[in-house]
Amino acid sequence: MTGEHIPRVVIVGGGFGGLQAARKLAHSRVRITLIDRKNHHTFQPLLYQVATAGLSPGEIAAPIRWILRGHKNIEVLLGEVQDFDLEKRLVKLPDTDIPYDYLIVAAGASHAYFGHDEWEPFAPGLKTIEDALEIRRRVLLAFELAERQAASGDGQVALNFVIVGGGPTGVELAGTLAEISRRVLANEFLSIDPKSTRIILLEGGPRILPTYAEDLSRSAEEQLRQLGVEVHTSALVTKVDAAAVWMGETQLPAPVILWAAGVSASPLGRKLGAPVDRAGRVLVNWDLSIPGHPEVFVIGDLASLKDDQGKTLPGVAPVAMQEGAATAGNIERDLHGEARQNFHYFDKGNLATIGRAAAVAQFGKLHISGFVAWLSWLFVHIFFLIGFRNRLIVLIQWAWSYLTYERGARLITGSQDLPGWTELPKEKESADSAEKLKSAYGPTGPDGMCKRIGASGAGAATKVLMRFPVCCHQPWKI
Ligand SMILES: Cc1cc2nc3c(=O)[nH]c(=O)nc-3n(C[C@H](O)[C@H](O)[C@H](O)COP(=O)(O)OP(=O)(O)OC[C@H]3O[C@@H](n4cnc5c(N)ncnc54)[C@H](O)[C@@H]3O)c2cc1C
Repeated sequence: MTGEHIPRVVIVGGGFGGLQAARKLAHSRVRITLIDRKNHHTFQPLLYQVATAGLSPGEIAAPIRWILRGHKNIEVLLGEVQDFDLEKRLVKLPDTDIPYDYLIVAAGASHAYFGHDEWEPFAPGLKTIEDALEIRRRVLLAFELAERQAASGDGQVALNFVIVGGGPTGVELAGTLAEISRRVLANEFLSIDPKSTRIILLEGGPRILPTYAEDLSRSAEEQLRQLGVEVHTSALVTKVDAAAVWMGETQLPAPVILWAAGVSASPLGRKLGAPVDRAGRVLVNWDLSIPGHPEVFVIGDLASLKDDQGKTLPGVAPVAMQEGAATAGNIERDLHGEARQNFHYFDKGNLATIGRAAAVAQFGKLHISGFVAWLSWLFVHIFFLIGFRNRLIVLIQWAWSYLTYERGARLITGSQDLPGWTELPKEKESADSAEKLKSAYGPTGPDGMCKRIGASGAGAATKVLMRFPVCCHQPWKI
């Protein structure tokens, strides 16, 4: 026993960035405490598979304690970090304070409702296992409720599934929901036809997958259309309620609304007292430390750093992992009295899946679409999934689904209520409510389109309204 002080590194967050930092520091002469509010690491790129009943939670998540087992210098604590005391070098949990010599904050980000948090109960986003299970519940329940209602002769609601946000998550969800309605459930119901479900993807910007090259955006849109997804760009959502999405005066009734837009950094970022950008991401120095505190690092989705071309680094797993490794390297350098190195992101490429054998991939100047891109996506995701057992199971599940179109996790758990279900317009509407709908849409619909509304009686008017875009002679513009 020499009594020598062994520096303590506290890592907040066991996501991609935090785990990578812990693993890289595992063989250094430091004590590591990793704190996470969940006991598990979630492989977020495959969350949409849980949300669409393709995989079960345990196949894409693993206990953090298990992942880091065997490293005697790593302590894992379950707890939600509330605050920091940077002067006293303390991390504050509800019931205790944890001292540190180095602090790495890797608490990630979530979706944002553009200042309308009241939309969240009607349009869940996808960030955690709990979110994925809630989305799965709503999707599967909508079909069940529609079948029950139609079977009892009580009319049928328009089964519109609306996804807000045309980034990779929105595209994945839309493509997979189209497959579920057109293939997986196609022949399982007697009173409804799942194939008539409308999957509608709304993107506020001029193109989907805006961070990809334009030709790949176009290709993704085309692949989605082939799967039966209606893609609407420049569609600005102005309101979401229990049973509808609004774009200005235009109302789109939908029993299932999913949110895949906007980014909001963990509130922990603002607690560090460092400057933050509009999304709450901490503006870090080139070595990923925060101004005035070289012992405090922020990495991953919570950090904001520009690349050599002045573009903010994207919120993706490789950035978080490389930043985790770079931070571990700089702590090591400090301990050896060496100069720190600036962080440089090495972009290996981007992949987005759309559906079965449909994907886009961008590796520098090489742009690929379709089956080859999908195969690359599949193998990259299997490779990075944590745990050999999970890799094997996911590979088998995907091979099985590919051959049979079956999805193995189609369980409805929890409540059997769907927000707004009773408020959805039915095909057998009264003349009164048809008039109300008509006035909600305006006499002719947006931009004078859909002039047939109300032309042939109240019941027909309602039906036309629900199939609004389809009935138009010209493409639907929102
Ligand atoms: C649905 C979805 C799909 C995605 N698909 C892709 C993809 O295909 N490819 C890709 O590269 N990237 C993808 N991403 C992005 C990628 O997952 C993130 O960039 C990455 O997870 C960021 O890593 P991180 O370590 O910064 O944060 P995270 O991985 O989000 O980890 C943050 C951790 O911090 C913990 N935490 C948060 N607050 C606290 C607190 N107060 N106290 C204690 N613990 C806390 C959380 O529980 C979590 O474990 C996707 C993200 C989502 C949501």
